[in-house]
Amino acid sequence: MTQIYKNFIGGEWTNCRTGKTFPNVNPADTREIVGEFQDSDETDVRDAIAAARKAQAVWANTPAPKRGEILFRAANLLEQRGAEIAREMTREEGKILPEAVGETARAINILRFFAGEGARLAGAAIPSERDRVFIHTVKKPLGVVGLITPWNFPIAIPAWKLAPALIAGNAVVIKPSEHAPLCTLRLIEILDEAGVTKGALNLITGAGKAGAEIVSNLNVDAISFTGSEATGSAIAVEAAKRRARLQLEMGGKNPTIVLKDADLDEAVGIVSNAAYFSTGQKCTATSRVIVEEAVLPEFTERLRMKTANLRVGNGLENGIEIGPAINEPQLEKIVSAVLQAQKDGAKILAGGEHLTGGELARGYFYSPTLLTDVNPQMEIAQEEVFGPVLAILPARNIDEAVSLANDIRFGLSAAICTRSITSAFEFINRVQAGLIMVNLPSAGVEYQVPFGGTKSSSIGMREQGAVAVDFYTQMQTVYLKY
Ligand code: ADP
Repeated sequence: MTQIYKNFIGGEWTNCRTGKTFPNVNPADTREIVGEFQDSDETDVRDAIAAARKAQAVWANTPAPKRGEILFRAANLLEQRGAEIAREMTREEGKILPEAVGETARAINILRFFAGEGARLAGAAIPSERDRVFIHTVKKPLGVVGLITPWNFPIAIPAWKLAPALIAGNAVVIKPSEHAPLCTLRLIEILDEAGVTKGALNLITGAGKAGAEIVSNLNVDAISFTGSEATGSAIAVEAAKRRARLQLEMGGKNPTIVLKDADLDEAVGIVSNAAYFSTGQKCTATSRVIVEEAVLPEFTERLRMKTANLRVGNGLENGIEIGPAINEPQLEKIVSAVLQAQKDGAKILAGGEHLTGGELARGYFYSPTLLTDVNPQMEIAQEEVFGPVLAILPARNIDEAVSLANDIRFGLSAAICTRSITSAFEFINRVQAGLIMVNLPSAGVEYQVPFGGTKSSSIGMREQGAVAVDFYTQMQTVYLKY
């Protein structure tokens, strides 16, 4: 029997009002239903927002270091259940088990990091220009915050929004992606067990309409969203109508530059990791590799060999490197992006196939794909695919490489492979991206430092690291005459 999972509203596990559910399907083997989840609508979201509003003051009045103790406890609980949750993550999202284990470890670190921030929610004391006036700032919670998350990091992204929101004293309503809601539900179970005030923590599962209610509801003080550019742009318009505080993390079309002085073996590893791992389903994945012409033939051949030899399959099996696409529409998007690239003149050097041999026919598998003869203005060089598809672009020198890297509306992550400190700094100084990597993959960020992009990739304040708390707090300035 497939298990039916519920919403969490006001501290109770409840069915949605219509009683409808939807299946969460394993993308590596579509015969497996990981669970049935509540197909919530606007009314369920309103219930959750009302519960959050009611509980918020109680949670906010819990001293911040005590809120921190609860997050520390949650981290320990997640550590105890981590192995089981990582397997569930592979089953619902498809990423290979070692990646799921790594992501769970990251969520544990995030909880511990923000738990510690509970004792550091400090303001500042600033000298007044007047006699016997004491000025200081305080950080207060916003109230009720709405969190809308995608499927590609089903525990890390919820953790990096929930933890700073809660430590700051907000009540939350979270709506995870309908394509991978189980890991978020596990995190909510754990936070509840750790002792978050009943009602301060609310989970609603369902499709976009549930998210839309979070965005438009006047009782939600701020919205943090990670997902597609199209949805994020629509949310920005809606949120602006009621002037809600907003944070959006959206797409990327991230470049990695390989200069002629790079260690080419290392560069092949960095680029293939960033482009293909997690099936390319990371907003920080490399989808354009810009190679200095002097090493283009040699680098291309080494990368082609690497790409062709990656092992694709069910992420629960040992030795598999690349899992499936999340679902059929996503697979179709990859297939049609590669077809379009070919029509536009690109050539496939490796991959380019929907894999259907043997057990792969049960899932949404696509071979890691390397494209050449790509013109920088082609769709494949400008639009995010969110799949294991990489385009090679030649550049005469670093100047041309950096201008190609920047010639895009996105600006999330950008990497360079070089042994020259001068070239590295030229790149750091000129590249338009929120995350800059030197001799490291464009994907693969750490929990304790700010995360976010420039241009069309992101709107609003940074996530992660200590600065993440700023989005979830209101700064107030106090003047006191004594
Ligand atoms: P993807 O196509 O990768 O699933 P989306 O941007 O559609 O990315 O989804 C990210 C999150 O946004 C999911 O939780 C999804 O349900 C939610 N969502 C989709 N449409 C809307 C909307 N109109 N308003 C608010 N949230 C939405």
